[in-house]
Amino acid sequence: MFKKILIANRGEIAARIARTAHRLGVATVAVYSDADAEAAHVAAADEAVRIGPPAPAESYLRAERIIEAALATGSQAIHPGYGFLSENPDFVEAVEAAGLTFIGPSARAIRAMGLKDAAKALMEAAGVPVVPGYHGDNQDDAHLEGAADAIGYPVLIKAVAGGGGKGMRKVARAADFPAALAAARSEARGAFGNDAVLIEKYIERPRHIEVQVFGDGADAVHLYERDCSLQRRHQKVIEEAPAPGMTPEMRAAMGEAAVRAAEAIGYRGAGTVEFIVDGAGGLRPDRFWFMEMNTRLQVEHPVTEAVTGLDLVEWQLRVAAGEGLPMRQDDIPLTGHAFEARLYAEDVPAGFLPATGRLTHLAFPPGLRVDTGVRPGDAISPFYDPMIAKIVAHGPTRAVALNRLARGLEDTQVAGSVTNLAFLGRLARHAGFAAGDVDTGLIERDLAALAAAPGPAPEHLAAALLAAADPGGGALAGFSLWAPLRRSLTLSRDGDEITGAVMFEGPDLAAVEIAEATLAAHREGEGWRVGGRSPGRVLKAGGAIHVFAGAAGTFSFAPVDPLERAAAAGAGTDVIEAPMPGLVKSIAVVAGDEVTQGQPLAILEAMKMEHALAAPRAGRVAEVLAAAGAQVEAGAALIRLEEDEA
Ligand code: ADP
Ligand code: ADP
Ligand code: MG
Repeated sequence: MFKKILIANRGEIAARIARTAHRLGVATVAVYSDADAEAAHVAAADEAVRIGPPAPAESYLRAERIIEAALATGSQAIHPGYGFLSENPDFVEAVEAAGLTFIGPSARAIRAMGLKDAAKALMEAAGVPVVPGYHGDNQDDAHLEGAADAIGYPVLIKAVAGGGGKGMRKVARAADFPAALAAARSEARGAFGNDAVLIEKYIERPRHIEVQVFGDGADAVHLYERDCSLQRRHQKVIEEAPAPGMTPEMRAAMGEAAVRAAEAIGYRGAGTVEFIVDGAGGLRPDRFWFMEMNTRLQVEHPVTEAVTGLDLVEWQLRVAAGEGLPMRQDDIPLTGHAFEARLYAEDVPAGFLPATGRLTHLAFPPGLRVDTGVRPGDAISPFYDPMIAKIVAHGPTRAVALNRLARGLEDTQVAGSVTNLAFLGRLARHAGFAAGDVDTGLIERDLAALAAAPGPAPEHLAAALLAAADPGGGALAGFSLWAPLRRSLTLSRDGDEITGAVMFEGPDLAAVEIAEATLAAHREGEGWRVGGRSPGRVLKAGGAIHVFAGAAGTFSFAPVDPLERAAAAGAGTDVIEAPMPGLVKSIAVVAGDEVTQGQPLAILEAMKMEHALAAPRAGRVAEVLAAAGAQVEAGAALIRLEEDEA
């Protein structure tokens, strides 16, 4: 086994690899860009080397810098993770030329599978069923169109160098073919610098079922299948193992085909053979076809680990260090069912736009496996994939595992960025998904319901208003002679202002007025129950109030400071008003005083807190309209400035 390895990646996968390495007594070296100097994956490693500025092309994709770092730290091997340099055969050759071990397949195996057309030809020759279509060299427009006609519409145009769903176009009828071809080519040229395409029969309502394989360079085994049919724009959203409805015959046929694929290229290490499956009428051994092979560890490998109890990174390290395959095919366990959901910083209603932000709060429920590369306080930067975590649930049956996933998502709390959490939660409760009735179009068909963003219910608003109004720390209980206190407040959420009032009727009792409704609230632990129900956990972080309302979603509010608002509204005006009802504690000026903008003129005490009222502009005090000790209403005029000559 290696003594020390370098992990040429970032985020959750780098942290995850470090975890297994530690368990095996292998020291780890992280690499990081300037954007990641404080990142979790750096903290997870024993040593770390800076490799450049944030842009991937100047850091995580710089093969020579990474190899230098490995040599300088005395690392014996490099684990590439996924993405970045993981499927780059030139990198593998450079690593090996430097006398280091690449933890993964040979450059030759990566090349064999790197282009989809060549891979399909190779698989056909090895007797692996491939999707019917054209994957030849003739890239002439008319020839490709003729091939599409021969295959029969609908067809799928795919970039031969494709990945991540890019360079792919479904074409429903011949008339649309030329435009779709041009679009696929230009996307492929931009993303991969290679505009060659292949044409495939488009499988209607297909399922994506992939097989995890593991080779030692000669022999291979499989670790069963994963169903990744829940996709949006060809990107996986929730994955599971085993595939719902899998039969022993189908599993044997797919496993055998995948092992044949791996052995055909002398595969070493972890790999995934992806198949497209026509599942209409159940899974049948003559209804699956090879799509591509990913020659690396896959994002969704934890579901396989959950059902086999094995550690795929441990297998990778052992095989790369020269051990044989750790288990024989017949000994590989398969227990229960597992799901993985990919939690992203993204704005779902805005069309799943990637988002950024500093995670002022981040909490996951116990009892689930959570692979994450961020900690509370860390930022999701614009430079990399905005993944926050992979949430993995395992259970003895599919129904139990799915329930655990759904509950786990509802109990996950993220503040500081918008996320797809509510979308994932609704997907985990989707009836068709629960029934195992999955296909790659499920999400798109029900997108409106899945992506809907219902606003907060009155109890959530009430909870936020209570949190804003409650001074906390037992301050309310400190009143010796209890008198009801009323506090008007304004909160903003997504540009909307919500105004309400909280009437504290006792230290632990309140009424919250919002629009026409009044909700009764009583204190319970750290928070408040509203209308007899718990509105969810309420947390103040990063200057905002967050209500984590489980299945209903997360609602974040910014308190609108009445003082700032008065200052803004009153800027350039003459009268300083009380922004809320309270007691005038002191007045700092007398008529005739010259004041500067921002100078404190009076102190108002409200809700046991003192608020300084500042001059909205420079000028001279014309008159003082209230005296210290006076109880005033919101909007009461306290001080008037002389009219501005300017
Ligand atoms: P998986 O099937 O494991 O989800 P994907 O093809 O979706 O695999 O990609 C896995 C990861 O690799 C993702 O994080 C994605 O952003 C990244 N990735 C995919 N293609 C590329 C590429 N060409 N260059 C860099 N990163 C990539
Ligand atoms: P990538 O390299 O981008 O991952 P794949 O060939 O693996 O490309 O295809 C990505 C996804 O596109 C699949 O998971 C599946 O949802 C869909 N897809 C691919 N081929 C077909 C097909 N022939 N018919 C229908 N859908 C397909
Ligand atoms: Mg794929």
